[in-house]
Amino acid sequence: MTLRGRLTTAFLVVVLGPVLLGSFFVGMTVATVSRDRTVERLDHAATTVRTAIGAMCRQLQAAADAVTVLPEADRRPAADQLVTRGLASEIRIGASDPGGQRDCQAPATGGSVTAIVARARQGQVTVAAAQALDAGFVARLAATCGAEITLLAGDSPGAGPALSSESAAVSRAVAAALPGDVTARGHHYLRAVPVEPGQPLPLVVSVRQSNSVGLYALLLAGVVLVAGMAMIVARWLARSTTRPLEELALAVAKVADGELGTRVPVGRDDELGRLAGTFNRMTRELQAYVQALTASRDQLRGHLAILGDTLSSTHDLHRILQVILQTALSATGARAGVVLLIDPGDGRLVARCAEGLTGRWDVPEAELPALRVPLGTGILGAVAAGGEPRRGRCGPDGGTLDEPACRTYVAVPICAPATVGDPLVPGDTLISGRPATLGVLALYDRLGSDGFDDADLLTLRTFAGQAGVAVHNVRMHEEAQRLSLTDPLTGLWNYRYLRESLRREVERASRFGRMLTVLVLDLDHFKDVNDTYGHAAGDTVLREFARRIRIGLREVDVAFRQGGEEFVVLLPETDAYGGVIVAERLGAAVREIPVPIDPRRQDAATGQPVDRVAISVSIGIAVYPEHGPTAQQVLDAADDALYAAKNAGRDTYRLAESAPVPAPTVTEPVVSAGVPEGHFDHAAGPDVVPPGTPGGPQPPRQARGR
Ligand code: GH3
Ligand code: MG
Ligand code: MG
Repeated sequence: MTLRGRLTTAFLVVVLGPVLLGSFFVGMTVATVSRDRTVERLDHAATTVRTAIGAMCRQLQAAADAVTVLPEADRRPAADQLVTRGLASEIRIGASDPGGQRDCQAPATGGSVTAIVARARQGQVTVAAAQALDAGFVARLAATCGAEITLLAGDSPGAGPALSSESAAVSRAVAAALPGDVTARGHHYLRAVPVEPGQPLPLVVSVRQSNSVGLYALLLAGVVLVAGMAMIVARWLARSTTRPLEELALAVAKVADGELGTRVPVGRDDELGRLAGTFNRMTRELQAYVQALTASRDQLRGHLAILGDTLSSTHDLHRILQVILQTALSATGARAGVVLLIDPGDGRLVARCAEGLTGRWDVPEAELPALRVPLGTGILGAVAAGGEPRRGRCGPDGGTLDEPACRTYVAVPICAPATVGDPLVPGDTLISGRPATLGVLALYDRLGSDGFDDADLLTLRTFAGQAGVAVHNVRMHEEAQRLSLTDPLTGLWNYRYLRESLRREVERASRFGRMLTVLVLDLDHFKDVNDTYGHAAGDTVLREFARRIRIGLREVDVAFRQGGEEFVVLLPETDAYGGVIVAERLGAAVREIPVPIDPRRQDAATGQPVDRVAISVSIGIAVYPEHGPTAQQVLDAADDALYAAKNAGRDTYRLAESAPVPAPTVTEPVVSAGVPEGHFDHAAGPDVVPPGTPGGPQPPRQARGR
């Protein structure tokens, strides 16, 4: 049974029950009152009948008496006159009794009744005044007493009706009435009026039952009407109560199917209205929540797409870290964050990119590297040192001086991929069995929440893993690039990088109107070293030579191995004079200290063990733009100068000829400040060393393969 059905039934029971009960009592009361009234009417009618018949008897007696007292002669005329006046229907003088008459004074029972009579006697004369009983008499009597009158044919109950104001059928039923109490016959109540002195007639008064059927019908109609109205009201009430519930149930089903935009009409200010309002608020908030979730999912998806693109398309570490940080912020809803990497140089954490930091940490991007945290210091330092993530809440002052101000934080280490332990990449080696920590990824103050939870920590670890792979990849890439541009034997840049650097430096010098000096160095008689002490000793010499070049240069100067035992040095923003000083210094550094080699080596000629080899170098110097307008031309000019140095006896340097000026000679003093041409100047400075023995044959200039 539905709720509506139950409500309807309950209302009908509550309303119709009392109505039906009330109607029953009303019906009972009406029946009782109606019967009582009928009995009263019958009593009243019986009394009236007795009185009327008594009056008639007295009237007949008076008429008889009056005739009696008259002289004999006058009696008949007077009697006729009285009959004429209607005081009696017949007056007999001295005659015998015709029978069927009831004497008013001595009503004998038995026999039929046709008239009532009153007698008077005077001597031998008897006068009888009679009133005949007919339908008119009965009708008048009935009219007088207000009830129907049935005159019985005899005194016994089964005598049947003689005259009656009722219909024949009713009068027969009425005639069976027993004297005494009121009885009911069909639709009639009746009462027998007994024969007694002054009332000689056997008769029954009857009244028709008052029309209570109509009353009952009216009552029934009322009950039906009330029931009908109750039904309508009950249906309306049940409907108006259950309709909002049905709408609500429908709306709930729609929400369950995912239609979160579903609303129900609130309408009224009752419990159902409040329920509808609460439902609408609930779905609204649910919808907003789902929309926010969807938006954040879309945003995260976008960030992940950018992250994927970035990881696969660039080796720009800063850009990669920035995207990882932004994605982590978006995924966790944090206010701020920072990525720090360990600087292999000083072993401290260095800020590489940051978002939303405040206070001391709110600096332009270029100044981020100045923000450094020693390992083991504060939260960031502890995470980097221990390799374990941390999350929590800062004190009321919002963190230590060394760290960004915050209320809550989560920090995870950025580790090298677990499979990696590549000794080629600095900082990527495994430390004590776990991946080396490369840095820290930290987020601060999750928006709209008390703090970071385990899910955030897990998310952040994922991003830190990405960052670890990215840092490792970038470092691998950088290392590979470095390897492709360096010479494995000496560690100097190789010929490929020389070309690139020379082009770049010439361009820069040209743009800023500066000079660039190029030195080309070639070891003297190196073939002999190989031949005498072996190739390995030659390699040792080459390595040592490269080392001496490196330590003899400024930081901005760059040294290259061009090939074989030929080297190139670029001296940015240096003129010929500066070039000569460097050439002298390098020549002295090479010449002054023989290179130690493996002591087991023997001199091929003497067979004596040798542990040091004396070497020297010849150097050609050219200056951009003085000796050539392009990189290649400057290099060629330096080569030519080297050739000249070789020709000049080796262990010396030569400056190139100026390009536009047609050939004075390479040995002419080109350099200002009085630097002597063609020989190392021992007095040129404190770091200028005395020349070795140049000597040896002057080889013809050879084409230099590169
Ligand atoms: P010069 O004074 O005229 O320059 O005489 P040189 O012997 O130095 O010149 P040459 O070009 O004849 O000899 C260069 C030698 O350098 C030939 C080659 O065996 C040697 N050489 C080139 N590359 C290497 C190397 O990587 N290791 C060793 N050990 N020797 C090398
Ligand atoms: Mg050579
Ligand atoms: Mg040589």
